[in-house]
Amino acid sequence: MSKKAPPKKEEKPAAAPKEEAKPAAAEEAAPKPQKAEKAKHEKKHREEKGVHAMYKVEDNKVIRARPTCERCGAGYFMADHHDRYTCGHCGFTRYKQK
Ligand SMILES: [Zn+2]
Repeated sequence: MSKKAPPKKEEKPAAAPKEEAKPAAAEEAAPKPQKAEKAKHEKKHREEKGVHAMYKVEDNKVIRARPTCERCGAGYFMADHHDRYTCGHCGFTRYKQK
């Protein structure tokens, strides 16, 4: 009378799969191309302004583009309006002769 022991089942612990730590994908920090927005403020070049506009040099000679005020004398240029010249200093007005 012999008893046969049932074969023992050896349970192998399931090998846990290794979790491969994936290296974080190196995000390529591509330099963002800056928007080269050239804010062109193109002003309408209507009329030159400033003292330099009063003079023009031609053939080494200074030409005054505006008449000078008769009252104030040389050095006081008169504003060039469409029908008259006015002096901003004394208010003298000279109408253009057509
Ligand atoms: Zn004047």
